[in-house]
Amino acid sequence: MTAELLDGKKVSEIILEGLAKKIAKMQKKPNLTAILVGEDTASEIYVGQKEKVANKIGINFNLIKKPGNTSQIELETLIDSLNKDPKVQGIIVQKPLPSKLESDKIDLLIDPKKDVDGLNPISEFTPATTRGIIELLNFYKIKIEAKRVVVIGISKLVGLPTALEFLNKNATVSICHIKTPKLVTETKQADILVVAAGHSNLISANMVKKGAVVIDVGINRIEKRGKIKLVGDVDFQAVSKIASFVTPVPGGVGPMTVAGLMQNLIETTS
Ligand code: NAD
Repeated sequence: MTAELLDGKKVSEIILEGLAKKIAKMQKKPNLTAILVGEDTASEIYVGQKEKVANKIGINFNLIKKPGNTSQIELETLIDSLNKDPKVQGIIVQKPLPSKLESDKIDLLIDPKKDVDGLNPISEFTPATTRGIIELLNFYKIKIEAKRVVVIGISKLVGLPTALEFLNKNATVSICHIKTPKLVTETKQADILVVAAGHSNLISANMVKKGAVVIDVGINRIEKRGKIKLVGDVDFQAVSKIASFVTPVPGGVGPMTVAGLMQNLIETTS
């Protein structure tokens, strides 16, 4: 079997084209404000990707860069002022924050109506990566209901909300994490396997059921012949021979996450 590619790049472009048309008809362009604290190369790349896409589809993107020594109270005051600013429709705080800042507390302070990353438990939005994964499966008409879904990773950002979303869609869901004793016993059960651990080559072909759908959320930077290469958590080449569908890295969940974020933002204004 050779798996069909779940082409997040292509699907995200289709979603973004639709959003651009909607935005073109709006009297007032939506504003997305991103806060970036400190200097983390990966975070700067992620924010840059969001900025590029936002500009392309007509969103006003405002990046607020704060130094790494920004205090908790300064950040809280900034969020409070953005919550109150009627010109701002969406607020995102790029993660990870420097370790001395209380990330969970910050999430709780963002107005749930503007929390387009969906990190406040009472946010009105599905977290962007989760939304992107579901949109991708929908595009390829992959059924979720009654399927056995295994999610690896229990982070607040990806694993947990994704597992809950599959549960809401009537799948039978198992969640695995770093302490799960025998990962292969769990992963082999999965009709849909979602991997969000942040470990390259965590999932080899012998851990995947024949015909499974494999969603690789991981982004790992590895050095190959002196160059930095992005890879996921799944051994893509080998798993492609077993799975029915698989996401590439890059070009799978990454662009769908950005599209999911923009979809959330546009919903704040409609
Ligand atoms: P995290 O470090 O907060 O969580 C990782 C989770 O994986 C934890 O729950 C941990 O228990 C589990 N885990 C780690 N190693 C494991 C192992 N060997 N076996 C089983 N479980 C293991 O990370 P996160 O923020 O959830 O991100 C996970 C990965 O997804 C990272 O590579 C991150 O860069 C990537 N990511 C990608 C996107 C995207 O748009 N593609 C978005 C967000 C995060």
